[in-house]
Amino acid sequence: MEQCQALEQIQTEFQVNTDHMHAIVKQFVQEMNKGLDHHGATVAMIPSFVSGRPTGQEKGQYLALDLGGTNLRVCQVALLGDGQYTLHQQKYVVSDQLKLGDMRHLCDFIADCVDDFISEHGDQHTTLDLGFTFSFPILQTSINSGELKQWTKGFACANAVGKDPAVLLQDAFHRKNLQVNIAAIVNDTVGTLMAHAYRHPETTMGVILGTGSNTCYYEDISQIKKDFNHGKTLSDEMVVNMEWGAFDCERRILPLTMYDNKMNRESVNVNEQLFEKMISGMYLGEIARNCMLYWIDRLVLFGGRSSPELNTQWRFETAYMSTIQADHSKDLAATKHVLEDIMDLPAGSTTLADRQLVQVICQSVGRRSARLAACGLAGILSHKNLVVGDNGQDDGSCLIAIDGSLFEFYPDFEKNMTEALVELFGEKMRSRVRFELSRDGSGLGASVIAMMASKLA
Ligand code: ADP
Repeated sequence: MEQCQALEQIQTEFQVNTDHMHAIVKQFVQEMNKGLDHHGATVAMIPSFVSGRPTGQEKGQYLALDLGGTNLRVCQVALLGDGQYTLHQQKYVVSDQLKLGDMRHLCDFIADCVDDFISEHGDQHTTLDLGFTFSFPILQTSINSGELKQWTKGFACANAVGKDPAVLLQDAFHRKNLQVNIAAIVNDTVGTLMAHAYRHPETTMGVILGTGSNTCYYEDISQIKKDFNHGKTLSDEMVVNMEWGAFDCERRILPLTMYDNKMNRESVNVNEQLFEKMISGMYLGEIARNCMLYWIDRLVLFGGRSSPELNTQWRFETAYMSTIQADHSKDLAATKHVLEDIMDLPAGSTTLADRQLVQVICQSVGRRSARLAACGLAGILSHKNLVVGDNGQDDGSCLIAIDGSLFEFYPDFEKNMTEALVELFGEKMRSRVRFELSRDGSGLGASVIAMMASKLA
């Protein structure tokens, strides 16, 4: 097979045309409704217990704690009003011994870190409300209580699963006589929405497009039909954490290619999170790598040669795809660098045609990711009746806060999402929907949520 035929096949395999997008959006809306209707649906639609929207005028001192990323992070945030704030933070390394030991030891360590932080930065004489970003699967039962379902990301502390991490940590604070009150358990998408909403109260959704992908939005509480005890609320709206990564695990509608199927089959969570796997940074490089290997095996790419690096699972990073896609040099020198210097193909062994094919692979995988993410957002817009056709009355704009390196760095990601929305709903969407980068859901966002929670207390 010629390289130009391969190129056409690849573009076709990763294409999601407008009709297909419409079908995905339709199913997305159905799945959202199922999640709002009953527990255990594929798209879980989890109530966050965060109700009401910040105005940006709120003031006060709050603490934020982030466990589940690379480091433990402690922040002090001063909300100053007018959407202004200051933030001081410190990071602490959590050793493997703590990650695998008893939960009591981990909580004592976290309390020591907070103690250390407050003695350095804080006011030790007043009780501070804290927003706790705890990035593990948790069944929340109120704004500051929940049950840990399982550990992920290398944590496996004993005596924690089935218990409330907020209670365990609050006990450790008591043991140390720390004047800190865990006011809220924070999901990272909800933190992203609230971080942006404090500065721009018209923000409607919080989206993560980083290692993983997920979204939250404001829902009318009356629309959350399934049984849950929302208690006292600040308004008749609540932020719903969709857990959209699980969409279509039944494989009804997503256009999975053989390259996706291989990646999924070899992943630790086979047949789970299929939507996330087609969208997020953790997986795109691996899909592109599988595609390259397929065309190597057909002797179409690199004359049939590979390298131990390229043969290694997860070794081709999504960040390389950004470099390759941004390579506008005549001889695709940056692409050559990635392939020959990083992926260790023999020096001088890749032809320009090889590099062009690799560039098309990256473009196709990246564009499909953006179009599928747009389908998810389109589902929410449709569900919320925020779509206005080109002939309709335009009654305002829709601001979407997004956190994550994929959105921040992947070339054309935003443009491809906008194009997809325009294809779906018409030219008006171009000005109607605005995407803005929103970093720091677990610092500023968690503090804003602690502030909102303290209004309920
Ligand atoms: P988080 O892990 O909290 O989601 P990030 O938002 O920084 O953190 O996302 C990290 C992920 O983003 C990485 O797993 C990687 O796949 C992807 N990534 C990092 N740098 C880039 C880049 N330059 N272009 C595209 N994707 C990137």
